Amino acid sequence: MVLAKSDVVQDTYLVGIGVSPGIGIGEICLISHRSTVDEWPIEADAVESEVARFHWAIDQARQQLQEVKENVSSKQHLREHLYILDTHIMILEDEMLVKGTIEEIQKKLNAEGGLKRVLSRLRQMFDNIEDEYLRERRSDVDAVGERLMRILTGEHDRPLSAIGQKSLVFAHDLSPADTMQMDRQNILGFVTDKGGQTSHTAILARSMEIPAVVGLESVTSLVHDGLPAIIDGSTGVVVLNPSAGTFKEYLQRKQAYEYLEKELHSFRDLPAVTTDGIRIALRGNLELASDFPVARRHGAEGVGLYRTEFLFMGREEPPDEEEQFKAYREILDEMTPHPVTIRTLDIGGDKFVPELNLADEANPAMGLRAIRFSLREGRLFRVQLRAILRASVFGKVRIMFPMISGVAEVRTCKRILKEVQDSLTEEGHDYDQEICIGVMIETPAAVMIAPLLAKEVDFFSIGTNDLIQYCLAVDRGNEHVAYLYDPLHPAILRSLKIVCDAARQEQISVSICGETAGEPLYTMALIGLGLNELSMNPAAISRVKRVLRQISRQDGEELVERLFALPTGKEVSALIYKEMRQRLPELFTQSII
Ligand code: PEP
Ligand code: MG
Repeated sequence: MVLAKSDVVQDTYLVGIGVSPGIGIGEICLISHRSTVDEWPIEADAVESEVARFHWAIDQARQQLQEVKENVSSKQHLREHLYILDTHIMILEDEMLVKGTIEEIQKKLNAEGGLKRVLSRLRQMFDNIEDEYLRERRSDVDAVGERLMRILTGEHDRPLSAIGQKSLVFAHDLSPADTMQMDRQNILGFVTDKGGQTSHTAILARSMEIPAVVGLESVTSLVHDGLPAIIDGSTGVVVLNPSAGTFKEYLQRKQAYEYLEKELHSFRDLPAVTTDGIRIALRGNLELASDFPVARRHGAEGVGLYRTEFLFMGREEPPDEEEQFKAYREILDEMTPHPVTIRTLDIGGDKFVPELNLADEANPAMGLRAIRFSLREGRLFRVQLRAILRASVFGKVRIMFPMISGVAEVRTCKRILKEVQDSLTEEGHDYDQEICIGVMIETPAAVMIAPLLAKEVDFFSIGTNDLIQYCLAVDRGNEHVAYLYDPLHPAILRSLKIVCDAARQEQISVSICGETAGEPLYTMALIGLGLNELSMNPAAISRVKRVLRQISRQDGEELVERLFALPTGKEVSALIYKEMRQRLPELFTQSII
């Protein structure tokens, strides 16, 4: 039943996952809603024609995807996302999907019912995958499944490309193919029942800079065409049928956001320098090819963390030397003259690559992960080092080893690196003879021996995501203990200080590449601790730069002194917030509702 406007209570607030910042205010255009699929038995003599109908649906889906591909290939900013469409075309050929559905039909079930059962099995399989990135690749299978289902049921979603006036798009789910076809001029934002932070649709929304909120579960069953709404992609808030007061408030927030964005954009080409003249390098963390344009647009001074494990995910065989060499070279072509820090494979723990046959471990976070895996799988490690070294002549490369827990490990890495260098020399390959090597500080052991490690390497990069997990004994992915995961815990502040002091003593550079680095609230304290490089999600760079340019290292040092007198993370957080709010009220006054 379609609800009349008055059936939606005024100022209905809903909170989903904000995946692409910005505020959209307008009327809803409902593209698709949660639909139910019926299954029914068929006669034995109807099986053959039902199988043929399923094959026809696959052909239709392939044709539709090819058409989208042709339409978007002329759009420069979307070209790099075409691989998603190829992935969807490949899924249409997947044996589990196709053969599985045909087997269900052969059990005398209609094609929609057979497909529904197979999709539900595949979803279960994906839900059991621990790695968040891979788990969310389920959305690609869902998108293909829904496309096939729509073809089979004859249901047609309203095409996004046909939306003629400025609207907020509400949809049960939006496939990346749908999202790519959005006309930025007419779409003020979108909201979906489904989705998560790292789904391709979310990634695309960020790169197209369309405000988006996902994961609202059943919002499409509440709304109807023309209903006024507000979406806030930064906080994940959606307001249905807003009152005049709420409308006015969000209009002001939208103007403030746009003003701030414009102003922040003007920081893009300004140097990241404190008021007392200290230059801080602000770099980007990258994992996917789609991150490059965002990194460039936000003025990243190179890459402080390239998570190479994403090259190894979702494929049968690990990438060979040539493929890795090309991938590393591609980043250097984009980022030169800025440095690119390539982290050697960091799998295991929460980043699971099933194809590499990791051991089944009771406690994977403390198991054979990161550098431990590379040192055991020497061949894989050497191939990666060869590829990185060969690429190093095309720019400024730094090699970084993850999850180091002792000096012996670093020495083994250096020995292997030297052997690889010697063999490249013998083969006549060129590489950067002065290549910098560094370690990630992610374990409490590495913190305690930072003065010893500093003598072995050219730089430190603190991986706070893991350091907080290991130092506070709080699994970073476990929602039950998430309340204990505190970047401002006094133990973390003290750990950062030990590492920064050790780096200063040996005159090596020290950065943070965990999420802590991209939180502008922490910037002043981090500078006070002595960090001279921060690497973050590129979209966070302008805000951090904005803070940096208004504080001095001395301000930071004084703040740190006061923070060290406080016994709990909560008190540390309250003091930082108070201090930053006084200094930059326009950046630190946003609340969720
Ligand atoms: C970290 O642990 O802080 C880090 C940057 O590495 P990852 O998040 O990839 O484990
Ligand atoms: Mg880590």
